[in-house]
Amino acid sequence: MRLLLVEDDPVLGQAVAAHLESAGHSVQWALDLAAARQALDAGVALAGSNGGPELVLLDLGLPDGDGLDLLGPDRPAPARAVMVLTARDQVRDRIRGLQAGADDYLLKPFDLDELLARIEAVARRSRRLPVPEALHLDSVQRSVRLHGQAVSLTRMEWALLEVLAGHRGRLYTRNEIEHRLATEGLADGQSNSLEVIVSRLRKKLGSDAIVTHRGLGYSLA
Ligand code: CA
Repeated sequence: MRLLLVEDDPVLGQAVAAHLESAGHSVQWALDLAAARQALDAGVALAGSNGGPELVLLDLGLPDGDGLDLLGPDRPAPARAVMVLTARDQVRDRIRGLQAGADDYLLKPFDLDELLARIEAVARRSRRLPVPEALHLDSVQRSVRLHGQAVSLTRMEWALLEVLAGHRGRLYTRNEIEHRLATEGLADGQSNSLEVIVSRLRKKLGSDAIVTHRGLGYSLA
C-alpha cells in the first residue's frame, strides 16, 4: 500500500516508517501539515487517483497545526483512508477525529505490529466497500435502490440511513442518530432499538454497509 505518514516526532516517525517498509508498504513521511498537504497535492496531480497515498497515518499534534485540518470538506481525495495516531485519549477527541472523516484511530504508544494489522484491516475494508453509485437514495420518494434494485425500508430504517448518508464515512454519535429517530417517533429509553434498526438495515443493504464505532456510534461505509 502507498502510505503517507504525518508525524513530527523523528524517532517515532523513523521507527514507524522502517517497520512499515519492511512489511512491503511504500512510505512517504511528512514532518508537518505543510509537507503533508504538499504530498497530497502532488499525489492528486499524479496519474489521477492512482498516484497518491492510499492511506494517511495522521498525528494530530503537529508543529504547524492540528492534523485534523487535513480532513473535512477540503480533503483532496475523499476515497483515501485516514488513520489517526495520537496520544489524545479523550473520547471527545476520538469522536472529533472520526467526525472529521478519519477511518480508524490508534492511541500512542502503540505496538508496531498492531499498527500493521490495523492498516491491513483498513485496506481490506476499503477493498470490500460497495461502490458509492451502488446505493441510490431518493429523499423525495424516501426510497432506496441498491445496484438498481428497489429496497423497501421501514420509516425508522429510512430515517437512520438518511442520517448516515448525510456525510458518507462520517461518524454519527448515538445521540445524533437517536435525536433524529425520535422525530420519527422512536420512544426514549428504547436503548436497544438502534441496534435492532442497524441490524435490519444491514440485512437489507449488506453487512458492510454500516460501520460500528464501538461505544461511539455509526457511519455509512
Ligand atoms: Ca506530534
